[in-house]
Amino acid sequence: MHIFVKNITSTLLDFIFPPQCFLCKRSGSVICMTCLAALQPLSIPRCQHCHTILTTKGTCRQCWEHPLRLSGLRTFSAYRGPLRTCIHALKYEGRKQLAEPLGCLLAEAYTSYNLRTDIVLPVPLHTTRLQERGYNQSALLAAVCARQLGIVYRDDLIIRQRPTRPQVGLSLQERSRNVTGAFQSTCIFTTGAFAKRRILIIDDVCTTGSTIEACANALFAAGAHSIWGLVLARPDTG
Ligand SMILES: [Zn+2]
Ligand SMILES: [Zn+2]
Repeated sequence: MHIFVKNITSTLLDFIFPPQCFLCKRSGSVICMTCLAALQPLSIPRCQHCHTILTTKGTCRQCWEHPLRLSGLRTFSAYRGPLRTCIHALKYEGRKQLAEPLGCLLAEAYTSYNLRTDIVLPVPLHTTRLQERGYNQSALLAAVCARQLGIVYRDDLIIRQRPTRPQVGLSLQERSRNVTGAFQSTCIFTTGAFAKRRILIIDDVCTTGSTIEACANALFAAGAHSIWGLVLARPDTG
């Protein structure tokens, strides 16, 4: 459908059937202003490199011993409460419309952390998983975030060349092993004008950063200049 017709149709549909807030069920928007405000993170100390939660300001032990190759990893908030409910619904219950407000939160986080990048891309799903789910939740989030920020969005620069086990429940070493070599840059990246650019990789949730790091390694191998990671949520312990 033409984008203009599509926009008119969705505006009309919103008028006839106004969306309900996913969290409090009040009618008006996908997530209402009150619930959005409640999603805002508390100011807590985080590792300046990987953003894991710390008790004081500074760098976590993991980053001292085995720093990520990423320029840095940033997270919007902790993976719990209503934010966790929203991410779960976006990922597993087909609530794709949640990508809009959640992607805007990512864009706000990007601005508040003063990130400077040229291209936004999502952590890709393997084609088998993409066919099962029908969409990549990280791609939906990244597209909204890029649009809000006015940055180029690409979802064709890296591929997940083999399926991986879910990272949940794996140790740090197992997580790293699980995703090592799972991603590869595409010929579009290696032959395009992307090689010297600053890249932002977006995912919904991360625990240790191994998945984003594995994506980054594929892009570094192909000549990327610098790579940041940005996620919506990170578990309190990780
Ligand atoms: Zn609400
Ligand atoms: Zn760290």
